[in-house]
Formats: sequence, C-alpha cells, structure tokens
Amino acid sequence: MAATIKTDVLVVGSGPAGSVAARYAAEKGVSVLFLERRPQVGVPVRCGELIPSLAEIRGMFPKLTDGETLFGTPANLHRREIAGITLTDPKGKTRLLPFTAYTTDRDRFDQHLAQRAQEAGAELRTSTMFRRITDGKADTTAGTVEYKVLIGADGPGSKVAQSLGLAANRNPYPAVTAQVEGEFEPSVQMFFGGIAPGAYSWIIPKDHRANVGVGFSPAFSNGTLSEYFAKFAELHDFKITTKLEGKYVPSEGPIKQTVVGNGLVVGDAAGQVLSVNGGGVPLAMIAGRIAGQIAADHVKNGRPLTDYEQAWRDVLYKPLHIAADNKKLADTFAFGSDTRTRWCMDILGTRRMAKLIRGQHLFP
Ligand SMILES: Cc1cc2nc3c(=O)[nH]c(=O)nc-3n(C[C@H](O)[C@H](O)[C@H](O)COP(=O)(O)OP(=O)(O)OC[C@H]3O[C@@H](n4cnc5c(N)ncnc54)[C@H](O)[C@@H]3O)c2cc1C
Repeated sequence: MAATIKTDVLVVGSGPAGSVAARYAAEKGVSVLFLERRPQVGVPVRCGELIPSLAEIRGMFPKLTDGETLFGTPANLHRREIAGITLTDPKGKTRLLPFTAYTTDRDRFDQHLAQRAQEAGAELRTSTMFRRITDGKADTTAGTVEYKVLIGADGPGSKVAQSLGLAANRNPYPAVTAQVEGEFEPSVQMFFGGIAPGAYSWIIPKDHRANVGVGFSPAFSNGTLSEYFAKFAELHDFKITTKLEGKYVPSEGPIKQTVVGNGLVVGDAAGQVLSVNGGGVPLAMIAGRIAGQIAADHVKNGRPLTDYEQAWRDVLYKPLHIAADNKKLADTFAFGSDTRTRWCMDILGTRRMAKLIRGQHLFP
C-alpha cells in the first residue's frame, strides 16, 4: 500500500486557479502539492484563449491590487494583440467595441503558470486524480494525502466542492472549441442568435489561424452542440485543424459559500466566471492568488480560512453579480428569438453592449 503523503496545502487542479494558488502559497514558505488528473498540464485546450489586457482587467475589477505581478506574462505567450470586439446580430449587422486583449495558446499559458508554481517550490503531480475526502484526508490515485488546507481548483464539476459539501455550479453551459487555419481580422468576432442559442459563437484570431467555438444554453436550443458547431463551421468555411474539444462554463455566477472547515474552492469550481461572456481566466488567477496566500497564512499563523470568502468577494463579487443579473435580463428579453435578440442589441447600442461584455451596470 502506498505511504501517506503529507503536505501543508493540497491543491487539486493545475488550471489558472490551481497553479496560481500553488505558487502564492509556496512563495510564503509552506509545503504545497498540486495535483492534475491529466498527463500534461493544459492539454487539450478547451478555451477561447482570449486574455483581456491588464487595463481591461483593472477596469472590470477596480479593487484589484498589484495586477502587474499577477498578469505579467512573457511576450511569447501573446499570439495576437486584439483591439476590439465585433458583435454580429442575427441579421449580420455588426458593431465594433474597443476592447484590448491578447490571444494565447492556453496549453502553454497554463504550463507557464504551473512552472511558476514549481519554481516557487510547489510539487506538481500529473496523471493524479483526487477522488474524495475520507476521514479528513484526500483519497487520490497516488494514495492518501494528509493536508492542513485543501484547495479545490478542479474546474466546473468540482469533486472537491462535492466532497466538502459545498454547492455545485447550477446550470453550467456546454461550449466547444477548435483551431482553424487562415487570416482573420484583428478583432474578436462574437455572433448572436440562433447560431448559438442563449450564448454566442466566436472567432478569436491568432497568428495565421483562429480559435473558433460555440457555447449555448440548453434551455434555448434544440440540437446538439456539435450540430450547432457544424453549422457555424459551414457558414464560415472553416479549415479546422484540431479535434473539437468541449467543457462546461458556469453560467449563474459564484456559488454562495466557498469555504468550509479546512477546505475552499476557487476559479470555475467556485463559479467565478463572468456569466455574460464566459470569461474566467483572470478571475481564476485573482481568486487563486488570494486563496494561496490565505491558505499559507492559515498554516503559518492560524489566520482564519474564512478570510478567503471575504477577500475574493471584495474584488470580484460586484462585477460577477452584475454580470449574472445582466445574463438573467438577456435570458428574459433577448434570447429565444432572433427578432428579440436583434431588437435588444439595437436598444442597447454599442456603448451599453460594451458595458454588458465587461460586467458593468447597463443603466445608471
Ligand atoms: C470553450 C470554452 C472557452 C473559454 N474561453 C475563455 C476565454 O477565451 N477567456 C477566458 O478568460 N475564459 C474562457 N473560458 C473559461 C475558462 O476556461 C475558465 O474559466 C478557466 O479555465 C478556469 O480556470 P480553473 O483553473 O478554475 O479551471 P480549469 O482551467 O478547468 O482547471 C481545472 C483543472 O483541474 C483538473 N481536474 C479536474 N478534476 C480533477 C481531479 N478530480 N483531480 C485532479 N485534477 C482535476 C482539470 O484537468 C483541469 O486541468 C472558456 C471556457 C470554455 C469551456
């Protein structure tokens, strides 16, 4: 039988939330083990790979401090600089919003974050799955792990949340993505209406290729996601070069409670995703840093772990809450018919659509 592994902080998942939490906990000098069930961090890519610029992130989360350290990434992780988002309504009418961002290769991006965590002293084990908590210890495919703090950064269907008795993400939306070859304009394109009921389809340009995909709300659709993707691909004559990969996106904002006992959840596991656009990488990193630092302070100085709840809500809750409310408005008034979608996009106009995308109040 495998010997029990001991660590101060056990992190489950090596996505942005897990690697950032592992890094910041390790930087404070506690022992950190982070587990990844996949053989290789970040592979396969299940993401649109769009990362907002630091200026956009600060605009969305004005309470964020020290964004440079968290979001500074090497230039070789920037595949394409983005200056705007083109919104296309069901009749093909377009509106261009200014929005600065860059596209990355999510596999290399996640590997970079995991590398930073390892450089800080965290130990990574790939091909290792967390199964459940038994007698206060983690039961994993590598054996039993004894920990002082457990951080669940294991994505939208979090087993850690379930084991801790925390809520699951309600109503997550499926989304699929693939890479295509070709030359694309330097703005993100989002398409609304029957092409992606209750959500949107996208073209996110990279260098001589693009990340394309479709997300939808099961409540508004009457086909499979692969069928919607096939229609989208046919319409744009995409030259697809990769397998179609899919995952769920939390769609209703954060879960009510994210800490219990000596465990907490972060990133998609906590529903920390802007419901209106499905963007979650910056939020996972912001909350991951808070989680890692507070977990280490708990181990070293007995800081209450419940401080995590307050600290992440301070920075992220307001925009998350506004985005979730705006999404409810869209579900009620805009989705379900192409005519209504067009009508709502016309009423909102470019300025308010920009607020919608950024998780800001639509009306004063
Ligand atoms: C199709 C699609 C497109 C998206 N596009 C964008 C975008 O362009 N920009 C953006 O900001 N956001 C985007 N998102 C959202 C974004 O991908 C997530 O919000 C982000 O990845 C959350 O990071 P995380 O670390 O919380 O979770 P994840 O990135 O999901 O990482 C969780 C990790 O935990 C591992 N894991 C799960 N269970 C276990 C277990 N039991 N044991 C061990 N390991 C486990 C998983 O393998 C995974 O590596 C998109 C999502 C989807 C589905």
